[in-house]
Amino acid sequence: MKPRAGSKALIREINEALILDMVRTQSPISRARIAAQTGLSAASVTGITGRLIQAGLLVEAETVHGTGGRPARLLELGRHGVFAAGVRLSPTAAHAVVVDLRGGVVATHSEPLESGEPAEAAEAVARAVRAAAGGKLPKIIGVGVAVSGVVDQGSGFVRHSGAMGWAGVGLQRLLEEALDEAVVIDSYVNSYACGLLFDDAYKCREMLIFSVGTSLGAAVVVDGRIQRGFDGSAGGFAHSRAITGPGPARACHCGAEDCFETRASLWGMQRELERSGGIREIDADADAHLIADAASHLGIGMANVAKVLGPEQVVVGFAPEADLGTFAGQARQAFLRQYDHANTPPPLVDTAAADHVELARGAACSVLAGLFTARESLPNESRPSSASA
Ligand SMILES: [Zn+2]
Repeated sequence: MKPRAGSKALIREINEALILDMVRTQSPISRARIAAQTGLSAASVTGITGRLIQAGLLVEAETVHGTGGRPARLLELGRHGVFAAGVRLSPTAAHAVVVDLRGGVVATHSEPLESGEPAEAAEAVARAVRAAAGGKLPKIIGVGVAVSGVVDQGSGFVRHSGAMGWAGVGLQRLLEEALDEAVVIDSYVNSYACGLLFDDAYKCREMLIFSVGTSLGAAVVVDGRIQRGFDGSAGGFAHSRAITGPGPARACHCGAEDCFETRASLWGMQRELERSGGIREIDADADAHLIADAASHLGIGMANVAKVLGPEQVVVGFAPEADLGTFAGQARQAFLRQYDHANTPPPLVDTAAADHVELARGAACSVLAGLFTARESLPNESRPSSASA
């Protein structure tokens, strides 16, 4: 096997990510335990952790005394040295947060959007991030931006965003020019999911995350990683077809009919209310029937997806506009009913509030995720790779 150019740097990056992730998930942890779990030599672990301490990514914490030998200093993630920024972009505002390495929010700022023009939106994002960071940026390793719609993180393009009125917008490049920082972009629901992966309450590696708001979304986590599909199209739950009862077909904004979006998103519920003559906001009491129908469809749709993927945990995040009385509770019950007669038990199901801070925090966590995951796996002869780049 021929040695590859760049392999050494790649192996170093992989080992650093591996050790950082081990500290993140098992903190505080000793160097000896890291060596035992990774199979790296004690000298290698000392060298790598030394570099990570210098970069502010790790700190030495408490000392433990074993049964003989020298006392060991345990390692934790650094708290004050390195930060990431995240933004939830909506048609009316850019909501920014700054998070520490653990994903804890340390600052927030919201900036109004004067227009939905991509270049102006990018400028508003930049103003929001600078204000959240207090004028002068602390050591920020990058900025994550969450946009509603189908987002191809790999190419940096927003494929489609109904909320922003965008199609084929090269947003990542515009943002990098406005911010002069590394930027990653993602959909609302993938950003929200990324935040959950940095939440101590969710240690599992097989998860399904749904978002319910003006639109519906789904994020798929397999083996601890978000699956984005080809061109960012994974999780297209909103526009799969609901099996419907009697009554006229409901036209969806995607051009199809009777998508789950028409039954269980706020957009779809509002259209249905208008069709029956109601020109007003949805009301938790007056529209109990509409909400019950939406919850029932949502529960069935989510269970269909869950039965295919077999997650350990399902989380359903409700945007503030979808906080409608018992909507979340009914959707959860409808989901669990679909497992009544199945020969496998249902996954754990939580409902949660997914407000703009949670989404912005998740976008920041998608930047952090890059630290804890090597960009490429080790090259080998069976897989052509551009790892030397
Ligand atoms: Zn549709």
